[in-house]
Amino acid sequence: MEAPFLDLKTPNRALKAEIMACWEEILDTAHFVGGKYLDLFEQEFAKACSVKECIAVSSGTDALKLIFKALELQSGHEVITVPNTFIATTEAISQAGGTIKFVDIDPDTYTIDVSKIEAAITSNTRGIVPVHLYGQMADMDPILDIAKRYDLWIVEDACQAHLAEYKGRRAGSIGRAAAFSFYPGKNLGACGEAGAITTHDRELAQKVRVLRDHGQARKYHHEYEGYNDRCDALQAAALTVKLNHVPQWNEMRRKNAQLYVDHLQQVAGITLPVISKYCLPVFHLFVIQVDNRDRVMTELDKRGVKTGLHYPIPLHLQKAYQHLKIPVGSFPVTEKCAPRLLSLPMYPELTPAQISYVSDCLQEILGSSS
Ligand SMILES: *Cc1c(COP(=O)(O)O)cnc(C)c1O
Repeated sequence: MEAPFLDLKTPNRALKAEIMACWEEILDTAHFVGGKYLDLFEQEFAKACSVKECIAVSSGTDALKLIFKALELQSGHEVITVPNTFIATTEAISQAGGTIKFVDIDPDTYTIDVSKIEAAITSNTRGIVPVHLYGQMADMDPILDIAKRYDLWIVEDACQAHLAEYKGRRAGSIGRAAAFSFYPGKNLGACGEAGAITTHDRELAQKVRVLRDHGQARKYHHEYEGYNDRCDALQAAALTVKLNHVPQWNEMRRKNAQLYVDHLQQVAGITLPVISKYCLPVFHLFVIQVDNRDRVMTELDKRGVKTGLHYPIPLHLQKAYQHLKIPVGSFPVTEKCAPRLLSLPMYPELTPAQISYVSDCLQEILGSSS
């Protein structure tokens, strides 16, 4: 028995004919940029996220960057986010001209610790970027309250949380705007690179639309310098076909997560994911904590079980952020979790037999650890 970390082939096989029909039409009409599939995907994804506006772009990283640019982030402006996230979150803040301000994570949910946000706010703070990590949403109500009191915007990093819910509200519909990634391994994955911005704010949406296309609303009439951050028609068509299946895929992920919990709750030495009552998670990843994580990972690998690390080095301790001069010990929860986190195989097509096999392997490995 084997358990790969991801299975990107099976869903594409099932949808191949449908996707190829769209791609053939795009080839025949040569509508490679923009066109009906882009419009259709933007409409459908906006509906799926319960927002007024969706702007499809070239990646999740670009989605974040375009939002910050549209919000006129400037040198000296501080943006609050977490050190346990993918570097794209902070790359976008810096590259849009802002300053990164980290706040530690909650030890149970691994999302931003809302009790620590206020202490990080200064007169230069402009916004908060909660990251809905591993498919679970940050505790948005307290964040909304803080943002209101200090007049800050909220940009959701929803790159791991397609169609997740917080108290019945969809990821991407709560903040001023949100960024989604359709990198192939995400819950909704393109056949290449793509991302999207969602928002209720029509003015912001219009600004992002113009920024994504060289700052032009009319061809060769540039309101400002923008970017080439468009989403191409081939990706939009594939995403439209796949979007129909995301609710069912998320349901399968939740079933798989429950199966893992059923098997692993008796195994000593494992910290299971804690899902808050307020959240309907979408399990982009199924992340546990174990002692001697690297040994466990190697032993699982020997048994054909592939795992991942999200994320092994906290961002404030990365070489890329040496210049921020943030000492070790600054974010103790993140630092304590980083060497213990282990992402198990998680995708809709994972079988009960594979989950049972992964669990048995873990039991065997952890049982022999002392
Ligand atoms: C994947 C991801 C991104 C970046 O998305 P890309 O499409 O790869 O640019 C940003 N933030 C988080 C939390 C992610 O997981």
